Amino acid sequence: MKPDIHPDYKMTTIQCACGNTFEAGSTKEAIRVEICSKCHPFFTGKQKLVDTAGRIERFRKKYEKFQKQNQG
Ligand SMILES: [Zn+2]
Repeated sequence: MKPDIHPDYKMTTIQCACGNTFEAGSTKEAIRVEICSKCHPFFTGKQKLVDTAGRIERFRKKYEKFQKQNQG
């Protein structure tokens, strides 16, 4: 890797779908992202249930059916 040859690396404003903007080094002019560290469920912990709601609902229905069968 030659130190004198490098892409046009600069600070770019990245705008997230949640409205948050932050800067990061990039070769691009502007970047739009769907998710960032402020709204990502991994960081906020708020959207975890939304993400898995479908699965939980399906599991519940299965479990209810199972219980009813067992109760006669
Ligand atoms: Zn965001």
